[in-house]
Amino acid sequence: MNILILGSGGREYVFSEKILESPNCENLFVAPGNAGTAKIAKNVNISPTDFKSIADFCLKNTIEMIVVGPEAPLVAGIRDFFATDSKLNQIQIIGPGKVGAQLEGSKEFAKSFMHRHNIPTAAYSTFTKSTLKEGLSYLKTLTPPYVLKADGLAGGKGVVICENLRTAEQSLTEMLQDEKFGAASEKVVIEEFLSGIELSVFVLTDGKNYKILPAAKDYKRIGEGDTGLNTGGMGAVSPVKFADARFMEKVEAKVIKPTIKGLQTDKIDYQGFIFIGLMNVAGEPYVIEYNVRMGDPETQVVLPRLKSDLLSIFKSMSTKSLKQEDFIISDQTAATIVLVAGGYPEKYEKGKIIKGLDDVVHAKIYHAGTADENNEVITAGGRVLAITGMGDTLDMALKNAYAGANKVCWEDLYYRKDIGQDLLALDSQ
Ligand code: ATP
Repeated sequence: MNILILGSGGREYVFSEKILESPNCENLFVAPGNAGTAKIAKNVNISPTDFKSIADFCLKNTIEMIVVGPEAPLVAGIRDFFATDSKLNQIQIIGPGKVGAQLEGSKEFAKSFMHRHNIPTAAYSTFTKSTLKEGLSYLKTLTPPYVLKADGLAGGKGVVICENLRTAEQSLTEMLQDEKFGAASEKVVIEEFLSGIELSVFVLTDGKNYKILPAAKDYKRIGEGDTGLNTGGMGAVSPVKFADARFMEKVEAKVIKPTIKGLQTDKIDYQGFIFIGLMNVAGEPYVIEYNVRMGDPETQVVLPRLKSDLLSIFKSMSTKSLKQEDFIISDQTAATIVLVAGGYPEKYEKGKIIKGLDDVVHAKIYHAGTADENNEVITAGGRVLAITGMGDTLDMALKNAYAGANKVCWEDLYYRKDIGQDLLALDSQ
């Protein structure tokens, strides 16, 4: 079959590689893709939110399945767009419709969904410009730190954690009155601060059945020791040892089952990934957020551990027979290191020539912000490459990943040297 993947990051590179392993994949296209996907599939110069051009391309190239990488096309309603046409609705889309995508597109929607279906999450209240006064009074009833979240998508920057009441009041005013995040902060969710260790759990559902993929931990901050600005993700590890069988049983019973049941009760026909950001608070799972797609860089450690045919798994979802699919997961640990352009996540330069890619031997290179220029691979984004190492232990996986990362170079290359160190320290306790 012919498949189109939407997106251009490391996540989409891994999807490409995984789908190409399937004997049922005939032609694979990636829109817009990167220098890596250009080598293993065919890049198509179309934006993932240009639905009209995507539709034309699909009809011309007899595409039977679209795998949506990032959230933007889902929140903008690609599934609903394709559902309105008798030819386009024959194409299977891996990703939810516009209503389901609100689980990620609106924090308020997600919180009220969790509240309605009894899914453990931090206590919260939502405010708008006209209820700013009430919001400021609400803050006074809480204890620091204060968690303020812009309701809509704000490129991962819409969550502000304030250490004291004064800065919380100021941030709330900026978000609501001064529209700091534009339309995304027309509503602001204020929630209770949860203290614990974070991890991500990934579920694939056809709306009726679900399967749980391996859990992962990602590293969001730019600086070592989890300091500095938030990024798209600087590294990830899977599995996460503290997410042991007992904890995962709780996650399934208290979070996953009620989420799938809640979607059914609310008549949201959901076909795709659900990425659940969790906080382990003294052994109990609390949902921090839902995302309606796989994570990046978590995909770079989760999918390399999946030994089953991903395309066949996706295919089974069109007939709601996901239940029959075998998910064979490798016992090995995967660790990924994200190599970024100097200056990222603030201002950074592009166009630097990347050297050493052929010298990486015991690790996988997943391209993200890369492009081809005069037969050279150059940097074309903030997060440039993810290097994934596998091993029987976390220590081995990290050694392989870092050995790979050390071989690659370009001017201003930066990566964190402490990915997984907190988990190694936990293991030795
Ligand atoms: P992402 O960039 O992952 O999409 P986001 O902008 O959607 O993030 P959240 O995931 O809801 O926002 O929050 C971002 C981060 O803020 C979380 O990963 C977590 O570290 C922290 N955080 C969010 N809510 C809470 C909370 N209630 N208590 C403590 N920390 C929190």
